[in-house]
Amino acid sequence: MPHVTFITLSGFRVREPELLELGMTLPGFEERGRALAELPGLGLLTLAGMLPDAWTCSYHAPAEVNEELLAAVVAESPDVVALSALTASIEEAYRLSTLLRQRGLRTVLGGLHVTACPDEARSQADAVVIGSGEPVWPRILADAAAGLLQRVYRAPRQLHGSDWPLPRYDLLGPVARYTVQTQRGCPLACDFCGASRLLESFREKPAGLLRRELEMITSLAFNPLIELADDNTFAGQRDASELLDVLRAAGVRWFSESDWRIGERPEMLSALASSGCVQLLTGLESMVFRYPGMGGKQAEMERILDAILAIQEAGVCVNACFILGAEGETRQSLDRITRFLLDAPFADVQVTLQTPFPGTGLHKRLRQQQRLLPDRSWSHYTLFDVTYQPDSLSVQELESGFREVLSHVFGAEATRRRKQIRLDIWRNNSRLHKRGSHFEP
Ligand code: SF4
Repeated sequence: MPHVTFITLSGFRVREPELLELGMTLPGFEERGRALAELPGLGLLTLAGMLPDAWTCSYHAPAEVNEELLAAVVAESPDVVALSALTASIEEAYRLSTLLRQRGLRTVLGGLHVTACPDEARSQADAVVIGSGEPVWPRILADAAAGLLQRVYRAPRQLHGSDWPLPRYDLLGPVARYTVQTQRGCPLACDFCGASRLLESFREKPAGLLRRELEMITSLAFNPLIELADDNTFAGQRDASELLDVLRAAGVRWFSESDWRIGERPEMLSALASSGCVQLLTGLESMVFRYPGMGGKQAEMERILDAILAIQEAGVCVNACFILGAEGETRQSLDRITRFLLDAPFADVQVTLQTPFPGTGLHKRLRQQQRLLPDRSWSHYTLFDVTYQPDSLSVQELESGFREVLSHVFGAEATRRRKQIRLDIWRNNSRLHKRGSHFEP
């Protein structure tokens, strides 16, 4: 029987020992990193779900590339190895691909980074996929079985709305947390965002197909936590109440990414909590720079805070996400955001550095201005490393200023304060209240 080996490499790396040390003490960092790392995995699980009966498969999500992994893959004697990685781990994926090819195996590379940099990736694998993998996957399998892999497989950008294969969640083994997509891309186009429209045009999954996935997950795990691996769950035109009904019926706890505007839809807010939603990650982005492409998400902070308070009053925590280091960031603005976050009503916060991922408008602009740092390779694109010349600070000033913000915002007292906010909010969450338990996702 022909066999395919799937390997996903984590997209989350904190490189610098000093930051790693700090990061290890920061609640939520590692967990969020794991969630990010699962995104490419979901892509491969979806391809596994499309395999014809004649094919067998295996799935690896290694913490690192080592001899043990290589030996395991070689022992499987696959007809093709499908590799997926995000930017921060792409160099590791290239290295793995080279090692596997040296052992006589054939590799196919895909994902966001490969789609943004196909010429770079082409020299590192037998074949690369540009765009979403699903439309070209049957052809790749047929070509691999015949020993006739092409160098490049280019997927159409416009896919059918109903074409959503069922991912093979069973390949993950027993896990407490699953990622599920209810949409691809985002109708907005923030200029730092690589996820919004690089792979394909925005589309939403029909509720019936989501029900099928949740049924599979709940048959595999008791009381699982679901991350909707969406870019902006409620930004499209679909009937959101149908989506929430499906989640409620599945009886799962879930969290997702959504922009703050859902807080101005009172009809949705009570349904959100009762559907099992415990947290929304909400990008407030930069306090000093208005990124092009943010559309209706761009508004005065007062209005945004009112919307976030409405979400939290409905029993759903908001993890407010901020980007440091945009145009106009100064020592003073870093102090300002520190003071703001120490006093803000958010149930949680995420603070990262602006990162010019390939394929984004931000990357293009900084490259044209020759501000990308030549000594910072892709493995620095972690969200925690400076990779470009800031306009109003030196690289070192931004690095040390970022660490200082983190040390205050994730200090013991600030962390304790946010935890209390979370507990107070979840007391109002009808679904969690019914369970009679405190819940910390
Ligand atoms: S709203 Fe979020 S997902 Fe949509 S383009 Fe902006 S950053 Fe990307």
